[in-house]
Amino acid sequence: MNILFDSFEEWRSFCHKSETPLYQPTLEYEIKQKGASEQEVWEGLKKAYQVMKDAVKTGLSADMNSYSGMINGGAKKVANVPIAVLSPEFQKLVSRALAAKEVNSCMGRVVAAPTAGASGILPGVLVTLQELHDLPDQKIHECLLIGAGVALIIEKRASIAGAVGGCQAETGTAAAMASAAIVYALGGNTDQVFNAVAITIQSMLGLICDPVAGLVEVPCVVRNASAAAIANSSAQIAIADVSPVIPVDECVDAMGEIGQTMDVKYKETALGGLAATPTGQAISKRVLIQDIEIMDDEEENS
Ligand code: SF4
Repeated sequence: MNILFDSFEEWRSFCHKSETPLYQPTLEYEIKQKGASEQEVWEGLKKAYQVMKDAVKTGLSADMNSYSGMINGGAKKVANVPIAVLSPEFQKLVSRALAAKEVNSCMGRVVAAPTAGASGILPGVLVTLQELHDLPDQKIHECLLIGAGVALIIEKRASIAGAVGGCQAETGTAAAMASAAIVYALGGNTDQVFNAVAITIQSMLGLICDPVAGLVEVPCVVRNASAAAIANSSAQIAIADVSPVIPVDECVDAMGEIGQTMDVKYKETALGGLAATPTGQAISKRVLIQDIEIMDDEEENS
């Protein structure tokens, strides 16, 4: 059994022919990779989801102040502002994605899904999805396997790292994972699940990686919120049977092509985009001076 697919088409065809659920190949892959039993893999997924839920909770309750000072409790502000721009549920989605990512930026515990830079997207989406639709934990654990299957193919055909393919590869992949998970959880068919991935990628193509001062804080935190929103809008479009026109595998290839030709200054080097703005440069200088002062203090005390 081929458990690591080269394409979404292969994944679709395998599950269709073998009449297995969409999450089954990723489950088998996890069993093989980890040398674990099926029960152990489900236990691992349960733990991963618990870490995600804890990150959301921590980000919305504890003081979230990053070392650089760029992150300072934005998720709590969003959760508590009395004006909901869309619906209270949408406000919760945005605040939860921000919360989990702020925990990462403040050196807390998160699940890299697929990377630490994108670690707020799945928690924000899945916690809100489960609450809105009263879904059992088992369904969310299956969603994690669906998301992992999506990331494995994107990693193979394009990239999931900002340093290789820009932010489209990182937050874009996480949004695609989340979008597929939503459609799967709500009973969408395989075409709709994969169309959600295609529509999400189309919505995030070209996004550069330009972290201010080289820290995974700005714009990373807000991009987790917007990616969570795009995951939901794409899932809504896909589940209504709107065609992405360009098939999902071709969308992934386009992401790979854009990543390959993207200037190196937009690939986590902090040499372009927001990182290169006067304010970004001033923050970078301040953080560097802070680092030097800490090193000097450590030397004096040693
Ligand atoms: S800007 Fe770069 S570091 Fe920040 S989330 Fe995107 S890919 Fe990751």
